[in-house]
Amino acid sequence: MTYDKSELLYEGKAKKIFSVQGDDQVIWQEFKDSFTAFNGEKKATMAGKGVINQKIASLIFFFFSDQGIPSHWVKDQGEDSMVTKKLSMIDLEVVVRNILAGSTAKKFNILEGTALGEPLVEFYYKKDELGDPFISDDQALMLKVVRAPEDLLTLKKLALQVNQVLKKLFHQAQIDLVDFKLEFGYDREGNILLGDEISPDSCRLWDQQTKEKMDKDRFRRDLGQVLEKYQEVLDRLTNQ
Ligand code: UDP
Repeated sequence: MTYDKSELLYEGKAKKIFSVQGDDQVIWQEFKDSFTAFNGEKKATMAGKGVINQKIASLIFFFFSDQGIPSHWVKDQGEDSMVTKKLSMIDLEVVVRNILAGSTAKKFNILEGTALGEPLVEFYYKKDELGDPFISDDQALMLKVVRAPEDLLTLKKLALQVNQVLKKLFHQAQIDLVDFKLEFGYDREGNILLGDEISPDSCRLWDQQTKEKMDKDRFRRDLGQVLEKYQEVLDRLTNQ
């Protein structure tokens, strides 16, 4: 099956979305070289970033297809794009944490780096204008972000399944999977599939030995060597 890129439908912070000629069931996602943080307040462009993230995301989706985790990934296109199933996206960011860091560590004044006995799943309401606030299950139902109440349980179940598989994958690459964010959507048949991407933009990844950060916190916190560390994540995942 070959696909041809057609019209630009939407340009987001990290990707451009195009329609695909003659097939309205799929879309073409082009990974951009841009970095944004703090709800778009901090921005930068680094040449080569889109290619690295596409490769990491694709490697992970490919691995998931082998492990029975349903995702939107269909086929890579060149070095910086992929064709994915068109989903009706759920307005939730599903965050899974294995080690406390970032907003939840701050909220409860718990030291960053505190390991959790059990993984924690949290929902955030995906609304830029509200700053993506934390949302309870009941609030999510009030806002009708899912089609049926049991879909929230499906999201949690899938998120924990992703965590198990992803933790193992990164562990083999000598990387601690601290936390990550997932987005899901409904396909035409109403199944819930994993969408968006998994990359160092959406995960916290720490070197297992040195605990050095290998993710977007390098950009958020001005730690330097941003792309070098993204590339190292890709190299370690590829060479294991
Ligand atoms: N995250 C993301 N997009 C967002 C918010 C968070 O990809 O809009 C990821 C983030 O990179 C981290 C995890 O979700 O891996 C948890 O983020 P947290 O809630 O700690 O927020 P932050 O401290 O990044 O604001």
